[in-house]
Amino acid sequence: MSELKFFEQVIRNFDKAAAFTEHPVGILDQIKQINSVIHFTFPIKRDDGSIQVVHGWRAEHSHHKLPTKGGIRYATRVNEDEVMALAALMTYKCAIVNVPFGGAKGGVRIDAQDYSETELERITRRFTFELFKKNFIGPGLDVPAPDFGTGPREMAWIADTYSTLAPHDINALGCVTAKPVSEGGIDGRVEATGRGVFYGLREICSVAEDMRDLGLSPGLEGKRVVVQGLGNVGYHAAKFLQEDGGAEIVGVLEYEGAIAAPKGINVEALMAHRRETGSILSFPGATDLAERDLGLEIDCDILVPAALENAITMDNAPRIKAKIVAEAANGPTSSEASDHLFERGIMVIPDAFINAGGVTVSYFEWLKNLNHVSFGRIGPNHLSANKRMGQAPEQDEHELVRGALADTMALAYREIRELWRRRTLPSLRIAAFVLAIEKVAGAYEAVGVFP
Ligand code: NAD
Repeated sequence: MSELKFFEQVIRNFDKAAAFTEHPVGILDQIKQINSVIHFTFPIKRDDGSIQVVHGWRAEHSHHKLPTKGGIRYATRVNEDEVMALAALMTYKCAIVNVPFGGAKGGVRIDAQDYSETELERITRRFTFELFKKNFIGPGLDVPAPDFGTGPREMAWIADTYSTLAPHDINALGCVTAKPVSEGGIDGRVEATGRGVFYGLREICSVAEDMRDLGLSPGLEGKRVVVQGLGNVGYHAAKFLQEDGGAEIVGVLEYEGAIAAPKGINVEALMAHRRETGSILSFPGATDLAERDLGLEIDCDILVPAALENAITMDNAPRIKAKIVAEAANGPTSSEASDHLFERGIMVIPDAFINAGGVTVSYFEWLKNLNHVSFGRIGPNHLSANKRMGQAPEQDEHELVRGALADTMALAYREIRELWRRRTLPSLRIAAFVLAIEKVAGAYEAVGVFP
């Protein structure tokens, strides 16, 4: 297997796209480097009284805009290469959806399942304290969010720890996003990434010309979808594709195995089955596959890898039967496998676009925190709209967030597609990278190099 390290893969994609731009080599070099990365260790007390050393990382890829932004993941394979690659992807993602942040990413090398809630709280609070000491967190500096293995609960602990350490910072709640709504979060952030995947795919599938090239009819209705990972992103993507898009979920992969059902799987019923039995296997009406990763090779129209990186490599890419691969996870397709899929006429929708719904709504949450007022509470249409519809201000916020997210995803795709077609670029990934490079390079060129 000649697969490159994850950060090298991002650089490879960047270099291929940079060849289609005309920016000075020095600027391009500056963009692709990691501005700062830290690795630290700290002790935590386990519930049995023993002490364990935990490894944590945070990478800030680009300071061309501040704050930097990116999730924190809890997973056993977190390492410096991974956070660097994910931080770089965040820079390009923010540029693609016009979110004015640089990219960052953090991680703690643990399996969250192995720890009690109180242990996870101690890990999260101590991790936040370490970031604070090193100036790697703050509403104007670096703003984390959830990722694999973390969620609103961890974000609430981060916000509370930061607020305790910085009591005079009136914007303290803007130090992290995807908080519970009661703690300064925004309605619609939990499902934002999965909803963004749905909005993105709806836009992509609406282009009759592209669908014809793939041998598909326009629209999401009836499209056969396989989803890998039923976590925050995968579950919500599957739910909206099924309930709002009319797609059929014909296969699901989870940690414990994979199932297939050509006639479709009801996502909510599958979630209930997993809660009851602890597994997606033996779901009524579906077949268990002999091996988990065979699920990726199910005959379908759209494959949505929503677990971790390197799900599709040169080991299995030749057997992928989907016509569209929508990278809901970050880096699920290795750079070489992506080239291979392209040569076979499979449309790969790049992660830096299709999973950008999370950071988009995180941006709205951060604005809400800096404004110290929720969207919809005051505004020109507020009174008349509420009187007319008899709804609460929170409902206004929910609708505003959904509408703005839908517009963001649709506009970003139109920009990427237009570039792809007009300049006959090799793939949507190259087009997305070219778009991001143009925007980030433009920011550098506008201000010059300090001093
Ligand atoms: P999560 O922890 O909520 O869910 C991940 C799911 O994948 C879990 O249910 C896990 O059991 C499953 N899984 C793990 N390994 C698997 C395997 N080999 N096969 C099948 N299933 C497997 O994490 P998440 O927040 O949904 O993140 C998933 C991916 O999406 C990551 O790549 C993350 O970087 C990316 N992402 C997340 C967000 C966000 O807002 N949470 C935003 C953008 C991108």
